[in-house]
Amino acid sequence: MITKVIAQDKISRVEDLLNDNEKVVIVTHVSPDGDAVGSSLGLFHYLNDSGYEVTIIVPNNFPDFLAWLKGSKDILNAEKYPEYAEKLISEADIIFCLDFNTPKRINQLGPWVEASKAKKVLIDHHPHPLDFCDITISHPEISSTSELVFRLICRMGDFDEISKVGAESIYTGMMTDTGGFTYNSNSPEIYYIIGQLLAKGIDKDQIYANVYHDYSADRFRMLGFMLCERMRIFPEYNAALIWLSKEEQTRFNAKKGDTEGFSNLPLSIKDISFSTFMREDNDMIKMSFRSAGDIPTNSFASKYYNGGGHLNASGGEFFGTLDEAIKIYEKALPEFFNNLKQQTDK
Ligand code: 5GP
Ligand code: MN
Repeated sequence: MITKVIAQDKISRVEDLLNDNEKVVIVTHVSPDGDAVGSSLGLFHYLNDSGYEVTIIVPNNFPDFLAWLKGSKDILNAEKYPEYAEKLISEADIIFCLDFNTPKRINQLGPWVEASKAKKVLIDHHPHPLDFCDITISHPEISSTSELVFRLICRMGDFDEISKVGAESIYTGMMTDTGGFTYNSNSPEIYYIIGQLLAKGIDKDQIYANVYHDYSADRFRMLGFMLCERMRIFPEYNAALIWLSKEEQTRFNAKKGDTEGFSNLPLSIKDISFSTFMREDNDMIKMSFRSAGDIPTNSFASKYYNGGGHLNASGGEFFGTLDEAIKIYEKALPEFFNNLKQQTDK
């Protein structure tokens, strides 16, 4: 048995909603990652198999390394079909908001979701969720939204209704949000749940290969270039900074998802416990922060780059040039770590 993490009244309220309605939309955050897509598909398969009319809508496309997931081809990309996405959102009875904590994280879908008369259910594990849903299931202590979806379905008494493809989706989200169970993954219950998913017939080794052995040679050359030419170490702060310009990404034929995982790499260097990756995008610099231990990357992200996220993994968007983003970083680093030291010395 696993602990009852989600409060019983929330489970009952979701059950009531599902008993009374049939049109369901699932939305998840911009630049959907493995947990965003995995949790959405996990819930999708469960509801679809149970006879609901369900559509997953994403603000923009997800990386190719998730395209093997069954059902992913039917995910509606609102960047491509905005009118249809808006119509579905406005006509939905229930909207599940997965893996994000503020409407800002779903970009153009935010105002549509807020305007919709649908009942809204948040299922998420990011700290400090805004109060924009009718039912808020928020558990920052849980490693992934996919795990929460599993817990929700089981608590509604429907473990038997989880199909093998649903289990594959849930496992994918749990695996990717923990870096293949290498961080945020010390809770013994995670491994109980994996046992339950394996009992559904999933091939976890194959899932790992589908996600992490799907890279192009160009991606590896870009990685080599970055580690050689675009990495600075700040030993006094146990910090490392890596970055890639738009031109450099083009040079290596980078496609969506190719830089996924880069931000974690400097943490493998001895004594590095704070890692930052800056990737120049079309109109902004996408920032990613990672840390080991209790360094709050989300405070760094929100203070200097208008972002947020988890303690050990967060991000932000910087509207300016790469040079400007790096200059801010150089100033922010001493300030941030000195403040942190003062707080811990107190
Ligand atoms: P990644 O570095 O993989 O893009 O993002 C890691 C985590 O940081 C995400 O799961 C999300 O919680 C958070 N995050 C990433 N980008 C942003 C952003 O622009 N704003 C906020 N608030 N959080 C972000
Ligand atoms: Mn997540």
